[in-house]
Amino acid sequence: MKRFLWKKTTTFLFILIGGTLPLIYYTQFVGVSSEFDRNKFTRFFSPSFYKDDFRQYIYRTDRKIDRRAFETYSFSVEISNQIGAYRLISDTRDPKCRDIDYVLKPRRTVSVIITFYNEARSALLRTIVTVLKRTPLEYLEEIILVDDCSYDASDGEDLKFLPYVKLIRNQRREGLIRSRNKGAETAYGTYLLFLDSHCEVNEGWLEPLLDRALKHPTIAVSPVIDSIDPDTLKYKASYPFLKGGFDWNLRFKWIPISFEERKVRQEDILSFTAPAFSAGTFMISRKWFFQLGGFDSSLEIWGGESLEMSIKHWLCGGQIEVVPCSRIGHVFRKSYPYSFPDGVYFTYLRNSKRIAESWFDEYKHFFYSMKPAARDISVEPNDKVNILKKDLQCRPFSWYLATVFSELKLPNEDHIAFGQVKCGTKCLGFGVKDQTVKLQDCSFEDNSQWFLHSTTGKLSTNTGACLNLNGNQVILEYCKDSKNQMWIRRGGKLVHEATGLCLDNTLLDAIVGTECRPGAPSQLFSFSVELQKL
Ligand code: UDP
Ligand code: MN
Repeated sequence: MKRFLWKKTTTFLFILIGGTLPLIYYTQFVGVSSEFDRNKFTRFFSPSFYKDDFRQYIYRTDRKIDRRAFETYSFSVEISNQIGAYRLISDTRDPKCRDIDYVLKPRRTVSVIITFYNEARSALLRTIVTVLKRTPLEYLEEIILVDDCSYDASDGEDLKFLPYVKLIRNQRREGLIRSRNKGAETAYGTYLLFLDSHCEVNEGWLEPLLDRALKHPTIAVSPVIDSIDPDTLKYKASYPFLKGGFDWNLRFKWIPISFEERKVRQEDILSFTAPAFSAGTFMISRKWFFQLGGFDSSLEIWGGESLEMSIKHWLCGGQIEVVPCSRIGHVFRKSYPYSFPDGVYFTYLRNSKRIAESWFDEYKHFFYSMKPAARDISVEPNDKVNILKKDLQCRPFSWYLATVFSELKLPNEDHIAFGQVKCGTKCLGFGVKDQTVKLQDCSFEDNSQWFLHSTTGKLSTNTGACLNLNGNQVILEYCKDSKNQMWIRRGGKLVHEATGLCLDNTLLDAIVGTECRPGAPSQLFSFSVELQKL
């Protein structure tokens, strides 16, 4: 019996010690999983790191690029090198943020994803070091560097000595959009946090982001992006109440929250919703990111990715919040230091067209009227988007405009109606070659099936031509200040002001002007978007 008890006690002690030792080890070096990582840590926190290691890393010379020239990076690399791996920056948060004790449960981890292409070594290093020094490590899963085939592979290779850092290198340049997707595919964290390679995260940056993200599974959160001056590298606080948005050119822009919105806000430190985030600095759940299919991988090099992800995210069930207590500095450059194989303008235009075609429904033509050159660019049909729209039951773009982005007005708002014009089950359109206006099978892909009716009475196509009557033949001509181009809506009919004739589908698909007849279904036309009461 005694022996039995002794055996039981030793087993118990054995389990106790065996169980607690790893626990002690784990809590001592939270997240630091191996001896190898521990060595990396010791080295990272030792003073020699700041004296020697980083200098060796930063001051590497290169035959292919001038590592000291401003133009190589579009910011002052000399000042960046002098600053080195780390510096103190002003804590730009509202002082009230410092007193918040965030309860971040259940504990979740974040994978930081940094893509870079020929980045100044000091800037890249500082981005990583600020993350390591200003992030509670229990929330950090890893820092994934995606080297988008920079000239010098050692830019990334030489950083593998840093703890938490993992490196992926593209065999050819993919552009930042596919690179971010690649980083996301290898990530393990609950959340993905994307960063540019010339950022400095500020004090307490992660906790407020996590706090908001933990409350909604489909939220994307954005910090306030402070500015680091490209000439002086000075760190400057940004106005914290800016939302991401865009215009009909599909150019990203910052818009201040409205006066009314500020008035009803109880506290300046509360987060607020925004139509878009800047895709260079935002956090999203990994699961939700992949449910959305990641970034559209057909977008090339740079441009449009912020809008693509933001719009998709809102329409398919997400929401975007700006969190004023989280601050990240970013070097806002005035020009691109890198090349665009197809030219910057064409790349931006093609990417934008892809977004407008995928998500804008009949509103895409406002983009085309701002950027007519986009009409001639061919982009592949986005089959994935149609599947996504069905699977996630994404809302129409009109919902986004009405609910999320009321600041985006229709360009010169003298519109009565626009979109497809239906007569029965068919749609008004015109042959590209013969320019004959007729009825066609309805198709969103057919750009000739979009018309705009303005308050001046003009009925115009997406190519900027106006409808007129010649006798009773419908013709397309240059829009001009002429009474002959005026059409009036009357009880569902389109009446030609000058002749009093009604647009009519007389035979098969033909469209002509005929005497108006009360209740004639062949004279009834409806627009897909009505902006005024008939
Ligand atoms: N980048 C990349 N591949 C490219 C172009 C850019 O990986 O082909 C990286 C770049 O190094 C930076 C990020 O993508 O870390 C965003 O680019 P950039 O800073 O030029 O964009 P901006 O901040 O001007 O929108
Ligand atoms: Mn940037």
